[in-house]
Amino acid sequence: MTANEDMNHGTPSDIAETYKIPDHPLYTVGTYDNGVTVLSQQVRALNLVYGLVECGFVPVTHAGKPAPDKVQRKIAIIGGGFAGLTVAAGLLAKGVQADIVVFEQRDTLLPLQQGSDTRWLHPHIYNWPAEGSEISAANLPLLTWTAARASDVVVQVLSAWNTLIEKIKNPRIELFCNTRHLQIHEAAAPKKLTIEWIGEKREPRSGNVAEGSTGGSTGQTCDFDVVITATGFGIETASRFSYWRNDMVGQPNLEQPRLTFLLSGQGDGAMIDLLRLRISHFRQDRILSELFGHNDLLLEQIREIKKKDEEGRESETFQSLEKLSLDMKDAFDEVSRRLSSRLRRDTDVILRLKKPKLSDLFDGGVRISFQNRVLVYALYKSGGFVPSTEKETVLVRQHAIPPERVIRRHGTKREMQLKNILSDSLFATLGSRNREKFRQTDEPSWDGGYFGFTGRLGDTQDAGDDIRRQWRKEYLPGATALVAATFCAAVASFLSSSHPTGQRLRVTFHRAVSFGREEVLQQCCKYFGVDVDEGGESPAGRTFPADNATIGLAYKTHAVIRSRKGIEAEELAAAMQFLNLSQASRSMAPDVRFVAALPMLASEDAHGRNPVIGVLYIDSRADDFFLDGDRLQVVLNMMEGFAGNLDRNALRDVDHISNRELARAPSKWHTAVEIPEEVRHALETVPVPLARMRADSQFNLEYSDFIPVGEKQ
Ligand SMILES: Cc1cc2nc3c(=O)[nH]c(=O)nc-3n(C[C@H](O)[C@H](O)[C@H](O)COP(=O)(O)OP(=O)(O)OC[C@H]3O[C@@H](n4cnc5c(N)ncnc54)[C@H](O)[C@@H]3O)c2cc1C
Repeated sequence: MTANEDMNHGTPSDIAETYKIPDHPLYTVGTYDNGVTVLSQQVRALNLVYGLVECGFVPVTHAGKPAPDKVQRKIAIIGGGFAGLTVAAGLLAKGVQADIVVFEQRDTLLPLQQGSDTRWLHPHIYNWPAEGSEISAANLPLLTWTAARASDVVVQVLSAWNTLIEKIKNPRIELFCNTRHLQIHEAAAPKKLTIEWIGEKREPRSGNVAEGSTGGSTGQTCDFDVVITATGFGIETASRFSYWRNDMVGQPNLEQPRLTFLLSGQGDGAMIDLLRLRISHFRQDRILSELFGHNDLLLEQIREIKKKDEEGRESETFQSLEKLSLDMKDAFDEVSRRLSSRLRRDTDVILRLKKPKLSDLFDGGVRISFQNRVLVYALYKSGGFVPSTEKETVLVRQHAIPPERVIRRHGTKREMQLKNILSDSLFATLGSRNREKFRQTDEPSWDGGYFGFTGRLGDTQDAGDDIRRQWRKEYLPGATALVAATFCAAVASFLSSSHPTGQRLRVTFHRAVSFGREEVLQQCCKYFGVDVDEGGESPAGRTFPADNATIGLAYKTHAVIRSRKGIEAEELAAAMQFLNLSQASRSMAPDVRFVAALPMLASEDAHGRNPVIGVLYIDSRADDFFLDGDRLQVVLNMMEGFAGNLDRNALRDVDHISNRELARAPSKWHTAVEIPEEVRHALETVPVPLARMRADSQFNLEYSDFIPVGEKQ
């Protein structure tokens, strides 16, 4: 059982099942889920790959060796949007032993958002005001991105896609663009599906016409062993321009002093356009800190309301906000003051709704995310728009609104995307399945580092050290890596002054972090020290299960762990074997004579959390190196100084970088455990006070663009 199964995420087969159309090797990504975002679709895509690989539904290379399965399989991915591309990336990263064919009905990859300069994408903002919702990095192991204009997110993702394909020797992937008449139906061969299509073969890395190709369309038919539909949600049929097309809604009018817009719709798309039309300098993420960032207590209360909203008590949200605006009148007046000063004077908006009352927008039947509801509530209170249920034609006539100022955001018809491509009988089978069975979590289900090695989890024991040196990497923020490197370089230079030359000394730092629900320790920088010859790619970013080896023991015991003085190298190696070092790390070099792991603690012990936020790791091959007495105290003092300067605003002088809390999974070791009997002959705990952060409880220095307009944070 893997760490994530253990945390009730279900087995890989449970996960794969939530994507599957009964009786066929046919899977669909996110079609029936609510709150769909780019990031959540990418997570669903990687969860599907995890399920398919671990169940053996797609063959993968086994720790660098070809899969035993000699038959070359074929996998089809329909849709070259974020979800489809991420499925393909996940399969390639796992070393899939199959031919992948991606079908995209438009002229290029990620066509909806490509060139979309007027829309902003932020990976976590739909979780606001939860911890970590302001973090601009998507934190994905593959095709990750940071908040930016949608067009720039496309560039980031395509560049990561390019790099991934370049790394793989002979990637067996084909891309067809401008596909038409794509039809999926039952094959004559058992357990297969047939696809017929007309399309243009393209270069899979870029979506461009391949060199030497005429780029013409051809009609083809082929059987596939697995078919994954990632056809998304389509584009809005009622609007003149789809949501992702560029517009001038967010810009001041140049010709007329004041224009009236009719905005029709009651989903997130409509709410975002309402906010852009009425608030100057509006940006989906920044506005939240601009309006609410002044008052932590207010945010705390809003978090409570969100909790109830998520428990299915959405109908109470409007009343709760009304109550809060009275209970915390001063704080809410400040929000209104800030908002009023930002209201555009060159626009008026009539928001046309089907629901008779604005409070009805807050009930469960309407798909508006929590933060947009709160913003629209605040805008309403500031007199920012007029709601109406009048017919569009009447409103247009009454207010003399020309067609170019009528914006319709009536949503998309998701199921049509599948109806268009599935045979009648496949579509009927899909229809026969209870929609609830298709609910796909948007929490990562894979174990930390899963996409950093090829093969299945069970194969990892056979992986050699050359593979282990690079594997299990997850996203590591650049600022975190830089500060960890500076700290470790300082510790290493202090220790190297008393360490024999010509014998290896290594120092590095691991931070405690969760990927999905798995607690891991992530190496934040390369090794610093004496005679460290790492060569090749940096090991920074590697993740280790949190109970792994010496660092894991320090994490579990909440104490400094050190090898006993004079211990033989073989005895130390045996202790490491017991601590499962080889589960994720390279084997310990046979001549390591000294190891130490020194934990650093959070400012306060939070319920259910492990107080350890990171572990400094030191090892040496020198016979007579030992860390105790004054030298140990100096290292502990250095850690104290480091921890004390990591707090949220510690890097105030560095624009846009601060320590940001990420949501962390509850820990299995939130209370300290004893050092196991079996390793006590080799390892000991050292009873010394540990370094503690002053205010924060995580080491996650990250860039964020949340600087209120006109203010420096
Ligand atoms: C109004 C609106 C506002 C949104 N705002 C946000 C937001 O602020 N933030 C956010 O994260 N998300 C937002 N989303 C959601 C976002 O669009 C999706 O999360 C994202 O596009 C999902 O990626 P996907 O790959 O699943 O689907 P898509 O991006 O739709 O990609 C599907 C791909 O499949 C292709 N395709 C479809 N049918 C076929 C076929 N028959 N054959 C071949 N190819 C096919 C399409 O051309 C497309 O390239 C919004 C959506 C809407 C409608």
